[in-house]
Amino acid sequence: MKTQEKSYVAHHVDQLKPSGIRRFFDLASQMEDVISLGVGEPDFVTPWNVIEASYHSLEQGYTSYTANAGLLELRQEISKFLKGQYSVEYNPENQVLVTVGASQAIDVALRAILDSGDEVIVVEPSFVSYVPTVRLAGGVPVTVDATQEYAFKIQAEQIEEVITPKTKALMICSPNNPTGAVLSKQEMEKIAKVVEKHDLVVISDEIYADLTYDETYTSFASITGMSERTILISGFSKAFAMTGWRLGYAAGPKSILEAMTKIHQYTIMCAPTMAQHGALEALRNGKNNVLEMKTSYRQRRNFVVKSLQDMGLSCHLPGGAFYVFPSITSTGLSSEEFAEELLQSQQVAVVPGGVFGDSGEGYIRCSYATSMKQLDKAMKRMRRFVEQKVK
Ligand code: PMP
Repeated sequence: MKTQEKSYVAHHVDQLKPSGIRRFFDLASQMEDVISLGVGEPDFVTPWNVIEASYHSLEQGYTSYTANAGLLELRQEISKFLKGQYSVEYNPENQVLVTVGASQAIDVALRAILDSGDEVIVVEPSFVSYVPTVRLAGGVPVTVDATQEYAFKIQAEQIEEVITPKTKALMICSPNNPTGAVLSKQEMEKIAKVVEKHDLVVISDEIYADLTYDETYTSFASITGMSERTILISGFSKAFAMTGWRLGYAAGPKSILEAMTKIHQYTIMCAPTMAQHGALEALRNGKNNVLEMKTSYRQRRNFVVKSLQDMGLSCHLPGGAFYVFPSITSTGLSSEEFAEELLQSQQVAVVPGGVFGDSGEGYIRCSYATSMKQLDKAMKRMRRFVEQKVK
């Protein structure tokens, strides 16, 4: 008789569910002729000058660790970039930390500010990492729902309603993954009032900041009174098409950034040196590359939104990132059923909205970071599917 294998896994880790996105990729990878609108990464290859700069750094022998917080030159460049682009000022010496992707920046930010049992408000639908990383840092996630009624923008009053004496922080993401919603300056100012009144820290995930299509981007840290309580998270994955390089950063108040650097020093040491050299080049000479990709994303966004609306799905026009988040309730299917049946019958992979939180149920996330040709094909297939369901 087979004995059951003993589990040595910590209880709180055992309780975390694997990301719901993975299951669809595993399914899709076993099928042929699948068009994937599932992945959250650019279809572009990293600009050549960035690759070359990294390659040259290796050639020149830059193969050792950098300073724990990252190359000072890179931190200086990040600081210059944030000031020029979003009017926020950070001292590169002690207010900027270079990390292994924005993912690690989020993790260390949470670990630096949370004591066990502290509550963190997470706006859903949200990027799949937020709730698990809050839990792993010993915090308690408290979710609030951004709804289509308000174009998926969280209202300040909704945040205030869930604040308790234990609330330590608020996590926001604009432009948002998965909805693409972008908060305006006025909307941020209303949120800032609540944040200030209740003395919260804000973790502002601005990884898609360079991919906004209709209005000028406002960084949450630039709102009056917010820079001293905001940890700005960003990175190179999205705008510079550098997902595999694993390079991101955090900027914020000196005391928090020093605490984050301490954790980073003991757990990671430093972000990969060759990737840091590539990032330096991306910031110095990559502006035009970003603009080109952005122009292409804008064209694809407009095409996909119009196609979805034409097939009868309700879909708002997202202001940024590279996702659309149409409602699929008219098909009578759950988001999981929709994604599964669409994949099986038409070989188009999308992500069921429910994986981004309960308020994502009834929606699907389609990434338009794929070629127009593929998007055109995918939209035709999806139309066939929807027409069969909505009679
Ligand atoms: N934040 C959001 C909102 C994201 O969508 C992603 C990537 N999907 C990340 C952070 C992580 O980015 P990185 O590759 O820099 O770790």
